[in-house]
Amino acid sequence: MHPFHWVPAEGQRHASLDFRPGGGYPTGMTVSTLCKQQLSADNSQLAWLWETCRDCNKEAHRIARSSAQHHAQGPQFAIAAWPTARGV
Ligand SMILES: [Zn+2]
Repeated sequence: MHPFHWVPAEGQRHASLDFRPGGGYPTGMTVSTLCKQQLSADNSQLAWLWETCRDCNKEAHRIARSSAQHHAQGPQFAIAAWPTARGV
């Protein structure tokens, strides 16, 4: 369980540390994203097919890694299957 949640907004999937109501961020709710923007959430079906925001993805990985250190044993994060920035 990570402290952030994914939220589609403005054409990309962002991540946020804001409190998320049950069922997800409702459409139109303003959330502060990990890429330091205030965006209006879009909870529609199609919105989840949008591309992941690069800055949020990077920040989410950083948070996931630091929270993984607290739980030591190589957990099978869904996030681990995502493309990571390698060889930069
Ligand atoms: Zn973002």
